Amino acid sequence: MSMNLDSNVSFSTKSVHYQNKSDDENEEEDNKVISRSVSCPKVIESAKSMSDDEDHDEEKTKATNSVSYGSTAHYRAGYSTSLHNYLDSGVQTARDMKNRTKDKVNQAMEEVDRFAHKVWDGRWRVVSFFQLQEWQKDNEFLHHWHRPQIPSFKACLASIFRIHTETGNIWTHLLGVILFLGICVYYLCLPATQFINVWQEKVVFFLFFLGAVLCLLCSTLFHTLGCHSERVHKIFGKLDYSGIALMIMGSFVPWVYYSFYCDSEPKVVYMTSICVLGVATIGVSQYDKFNTSRFRSFRAVIFASLGLSGIIPAIHIAIKHGFMPSLTKGQLGWLYLMAVLYLTGAFLYAMRIPERYFPGKCDLVFQSHQIFHVLVVLAAVVHFHGISNLQKVRFLHGEQCMAGD
Ligand SMILES: [Zn+2]
Repeated sequence: MSMNLDSNVSFSTKSVHYQNKSDDENEEEDNKVISRSVSCPKVIESAKSMSDDEDHDEEKTKATNSVSYGSTAHYRAGYSTSLHNYLDSGVQTARDMKNRTKDKVNQAMEEVDRFAHKVWDGRWRVVSFFQLQEWQKDNEFLHHWHRPQIPSFKACLASIFRIHTETGNIWTHLLGVILFLGICVYYLCLPATQFINVWQEKVVFFLFFLGAVLCLLCSTLFHTLGCHSERVHKIFGKLDYSGIALMIMGSFVPWVYYSFYCDSEPKVVYMTSICVLGVATIGVSQYDKFNTSRFRSFRAVIFASLGLSGIIPAIHIAIKHGFMPSLTKGQLGWLYLMAVLYLTGAFLYAMRIPERYFPGKCDLVFQSHQIFHVLVVLAAVVHFHGISNLQKVRFLHGEQCMAGD
């Protein structure tokens, strides 16, 4: 009992001593306590756990209360302030350490990123089919000259000027983009005197050019950037297929416009139908599975069907004008040639001919995808020729609609 009283008195004295000191002296003493506490593993542990806990203030109060339990109220007030301060300092130290570690990790990640970009900006080498990532494996009949995964858009764009399996695919459609942009500008700048209904006619031709340029551009981007990453490959793959549907829709518009110039009902029905089918095809091509090599034949069938839906208005024209006049006046001959080019391309693409018969020999040129690309551009040129002739026939005929038009 007397021992307790003595210790209470001595603690009380310490407390008074503490409270009588100036603020600077108290701070100096706190620092000493903190420096002792930092070297003490238990205190560090306590500080760490408190830094992780949102409600550490409550914890500290509990700790303080437990330490001061059994002491006098006077002692508790003074000593708990000191304990509170060095616990605060411990928590702050732990937070600082955490922030410093975070900064260092971020710096290191930025360094790795910069290094990776330096490596990929021109320092990649072509690889064989078996070295490709699983999502890049599309055609096992092309053995070598593949681009590896190149996680840099700059390096992917620069790969346009290097030799690999996609060089032919990129350039066949990039030159197509330049060609159709040139024809578009030329055609839209033709004088108004060459048209009957200048705005309507230029708009329907513009829709054809828009579909063609978007299709070829999306394809060029897919073949250029497709090796960046799986995510980019999927996004541009979907754009590529959507572009094909847009091209087919755009091709229908001027053809149906001139073929049913004097017959507005079938004109509206056929234009609406191709738009609905085209949008449905774009919707289907948004599924990830649609873009996989397993669905190659399904893709070919879907796009061939969309193109072949033109058979119905073609039969309509043949019945209306007779078979031979529909080939000359209706320009259906060019339409049939376009269909043959598209279908040949789709067949070669689906069957992977000729590389199937010459594995490893078509890695750079004459692979089915390149032939398909060339046939798509040729089909678009043939179609443009056909609709230009339709426009000329209409211009010579005049605006007046006669029986049988
Ligand atoms: Zn392609």
